[in-house]
Amino acid sequence: MAFEGLADRLQNTIQKIRGKGKVTEADVKEMMREVRLALLEADVNFKVVKDFVKRVSERAIGQEVMKSLTPGQQVIKVVQEELTALMGGEQSKIAVAKRPPTVIMMVGLQGAGKTTTTGKLANLLRKKHNRKPMLVAADIYRPAAIKQLETLGKQLNMPVFSLGDQVSPVEIAKQAIERAKEEHHDYVLIDTAGRLHIDEELMDELVQVKEIAKPDEIFLVVDAMTGQDAVNVASSFNDLLGLTGVVLTKLDGDTRGGAALSVKAVTNTPIKYVGLGEKLDAIEAFHPERMASRILGMGDVLTLIEKAQSSVDEEKAKELEQKFRSASFTFDDFLDQLGQVRKMGPLDEILGMLPGANKMKGLKNVQVDDKQISHVEAIIQSMTKDEKIHPETINASRKKRIAKGSGRTVQEVNRLLKQFEDMKKMMKQMTSMSKGKKKGMKFP
Ligand code: GDP
Repeated sequence: MAFEGLADRLQNTIQKIRGKGKVTEADVKEMMREVRLALLEADVNFKVVKDFVKRVSERAIGQEVMKSLTPGQQVIKVVQEELTALMGGEQSKIAVAKRPPTVIMMVGLQGAGKTTTTGKLANLLRKKHNRKPMLVAADIYRPAAIKQLETLGKQLNMPVFSLGDQVSPVEIAKQAIERAKEEHHDYVLIDTAGRLHIDEELMDELVQVKEIAKPDEIFLVVDAMTGQDAVNVASSFNDLLGLTGVVLTKLDGDTRGGAALSVKAVTNTPIKYVGLGEKLDAIEAFHPERMASRILGMGDVLTLIEKAQSSVDEEKAKELEQKFRSASFTFDDFLDQLGQVRKMGPLDEILGMLPGANKMKGLKNVQVDDKQISHVEAIIQSMTKDEKIHPETINASRKKRIAKGSGRTVQEVNRLLKQFEDMKKMMKQMTSMSKGKKKGMKFP
């Protein structure tokens, strides 16, 4: 998971100071020494670290903390606030042009994830903001780029404007915007050319596209895994083009976090979105405060709730609740529910959003293994329709057949059957308890 090392170190450090009834200047100095090392090790820009440590130290040693009743907690609050400020403070919203379409120019070096992100962002705009975006293929140099965007467009069932690779990007952008107006698209996302390195020719072209397209946003897509390189790239693009936002991709990888923590401070450009995987829905708006909480082990319950809201089908949830109450929950329903949890994303990512999750000893060592869910799914899928409704009919030979069909062992089949039975028992108890409550009965 991204930020793991940084999160671990920072959490250990603040743990030491959390419960203190009295915090001395020496305590703060000691803590800040460790914070400084943790940030440097996470590849945060040297100057950014220096400024950060200075600001936190000044505030932590100041009156507001020392005089408070819970100085330990106050210090942590200061760290969290400053970390949030470092990443841009408020969440920055995407622009909406007064007169549509809103034009977004996507720029970046090859391999950063620019084309994929263009598709993801359009998908998000449609799904979350009810917009009607159009994609524009203006990377005419990388032979596969136009095809790639067209494929994405097909996957998303979204129009892609392309004039092949013989027309200049400036002309493509111009015609695309006209087309978008005619067809009433309210967002136009232009996938511009990338290069392996920043060069003059590329920049000249991007400047020309900018002049014609008059974009409301210029988003630079950078790969979080490249650490300080990402920050340097952002600086150069910003100097020449004037960026309005950065999209940090591959935050699902093992990045140490340096880019996420330095981009805003170095380039004064906010991170607007983060990419969290290869799939087209693996993108999130960037919330500095939530990210700071995550890094400090305070969890990110808000994102978790949003994820649950967007992936759980409400009708289905109601239906399940009904079944739950009448204890007529079957293995098919169970399978449904597993599917809904899965839609929220990889389990370890979900758990990572719970406050203190990575401090819970039990959780830390349990590899939350998505494979295990697949195994459970496989076992259930190997049952017959009737067995799923009446698992009590599953005898020894049926168990063997199910084990064989799912490629699992009989013990695993037994375990699942037992868990399911326990769950149903619990449901019955809960239902009779709530019925009892209605009749005014008292329970211990
Ligand atoms: P471009 O050259 O900048 O247009 O890059 P592409 O969009 O072709 O992406 C390069 C590779 O990075 C592809 O294999 C993408 O699937 C992958 N990629 C893009 N964004 C993410 C992300 O957020 N996480 C992960 N794990 N991979 C990503």
